[in-house]
Amino acid sequence: MEREGSGGTVGSTTGGRRRRPVRTTMQHRQEVLFLQSPIGMAVTTLDGHLGRINPALCELLGATIGDLMGRTFADLAPPAHAEQIRRLDARLKSGELPHYELETRLQRPDGQEVHAWLKMALIHGSDGAPRQLFGHVVDISRRKKMEQQLRHDAAHDSVTGLPNRTTFADRLRQAHETGTPHGVLFIDLDQFKLINDSLGHQAGDELLVEVARRFRLAAAGRHLVTRHGGDEFVVLLLDVADADGARQVVSHIEDALNEPFDVRGQQVYMSASIGVALSQRPDHEPGALLREADTALSRAKTLGRGSVALFDDEMHTAVVERLRIETEMRRGLELGEFETFYQPVVRLEDGQIAGFEALLRWRHPSRGMLNPSAFLEVAEDTGHIITLGRQVVEDVCRIIPRLQRGPEQEPVFVTVNLGSREFAHPALADELESALERTAVDPRCLRLEITETVMMAYERNDFELLDRLKRLGLRLYIDDFGTGHSSLAHLHRLPIDAVKVDREFVRRCGPEGEHLEIAVAVVSIARAFGIQVVAEGIESELQLDHMRRLGCDFGQGWLFGRAMNADAAVELTSAGPRW
Ligand code: C2E
Ligand code: CA
Ligand code: CA
Repeated sequence: MEREGSGGTVGSTTGGRRRRPVRTTMQHRQEVLFLQSPIGMAVTTLDGHLGRINPALCELLGATIGDLMGRTFADLAPPAHAEQIRRLDARLKSGELPHYELETRLQRPDGQEVHAWLKMALIHGSDGAPRQLFGHVVDISRRKKMEQQLRHDAAHDSVTGLPNRTTFADRLRQAHETGTPHGVLFIDLDQFKLINDSLGHQAGDELLVEVARRFRLAAAGRHLVTRHGGDEFVVLLLDVADADGARQVVSHIEDALNEPFDVRGQQVYMSASIGVALSQRPDHEPGALLREADTALSRAKTLGRGSVALFDDEMHTAVVERLRIETEMRRGLELGEFETFYQPVVRLEDGQIAGFEALLRWRHPSRGMLNPSAFLEVAEDTGHIITLGRQVVEDVCRIIPRLQRGPEQEPVFVTVNLGSREFAHPALADELESALERTAVDPRCLRLEITETVMMAYERNDFELLDRLKRLGLRLYIDDFGTGHSSLAHLHRLPIDAVKVDREFVRRCGPEGEHLEIAVAVVSIARAFGIQVVAEGIESELQLDHMRRLGCDFGQGWLFGRAMNADAAVELTSAGPRW
């Protein structure tokens, strides 16, 4: 933008003190440019009063020359900008600034506002003195709108229009930093997936929109309702200091779900599980609060539909305890604190030790010998079970040769438990195959126990893995038989060698042999399919008697021996029959 000479002539027809008699070609071109430019242009007095105004500016401001003449841009701008424009104009006039640029909003006579980019420059006369100001105005409303839309999209969920996870995190941090007492409600719609699957995604989305609307009403503008995807809604409670305050909001949320929803003409009743966490707990940081609400939600879900749980000291202790187990387990794995123990399995026909079940133990440095119930869940969740399972297989392959009594005797086997995570591990079969090769163990002696539930979950896919394991020469046992959703009918379709009747059935049978029906049924069906039966948890002579008479092939339980270390197992095997 020129500041001198030529610029001065553009406005000279109205600026008017020194009208030039002869117009040059140059001046003519400028005049055409001024009148035909698509960009709004104006010449103003040094105080910013509009003098010449081009058609583009009139159009942009939806005004006539008459509407605008004599006014200033500052008059059209909102107060905060008006002040700024006046100050900048004064600096132009004084020669302190050659030009300036500014984004502002300009008011049109019809009341609408235009987002405008305004550039003002000082024009000198041919004598070098400041003469006029020259302004460019560009309508940037569309760009502004797009920017706003982008900002909104980044901060909101597209289905419900609620603020999203990003906004939630920002506001949570703000609340934390300003020390506002706050809390988090983690809301999960019960059985939403069912509705979504049965009525379709679009219906699901419509339902979410209505839920969002009701939740927003329930929060009454005091709390921030956000959606984190799926059917997860998270409310940031603001100015809520205690459980009572949270409970009030929770009851409004619950009320919001009381009325049925109309989904495609169907009445649908909804409930939600809600986890609550409050900032008033010690040593919390923003991320922890959301995790705590999530933990509370998991608890609420275990309590059944429509339940609410508050993250409390007890849950805090459980979380800390779990973290401790995780850390200690990592260290324990490095230091070799996990050991494989062996519980004898007795052939009921002759009372001989037929084999052992390998059972994990953790020789914990401060808590003593731990059973799997103390650590198995964490090992599954963290995936450490894979490492532990490999170690068990190693140990078992090492002990199998030591357990054999001689070539003319029946081989002594060891069974290994496989959890769902291990069973689903893609390398399972390969690893077992290479372990067998490396150790030259007779595959008949290594057997795998898989619970009914794990096997049934797998059954829906195919039996390829089970077949492959069988081809390696391994025997397969169904563990805890009778505790899952019964699969007696499927038994014949599975390539299995034995079932282990859960100890619960053994425990239940009374002194006169009552409550034996299930055990009887299992044994007879197993017989029919040529599958062997192991009775677990035999603690008394009486139970042993019952199981023998029922025709179980093997027995296992404290009566014969508890889980013991490798040396004890080897010694017991060589001792000969006792039962
Ligand atoms: P399970 O496979 O049902 O193992 C039998 C459990 O019953 C063992 O508990 C055993 O000590 C216990 N038991 C044996 N006889 C009796 C009895 O007469 N009375 C009573 N009340 N209990 C008896 P443990 O060793 O605590 O193992 C618990 C579970 O941990 C096992 O249940 C098994 O599912 C799992 N587990 C153990 N070792 C491993 C392993 O190496 N890998 C995997 N994935 N899971 C394992
Ligand atoms: Ca087992
Ligand atoms: Ca079992």
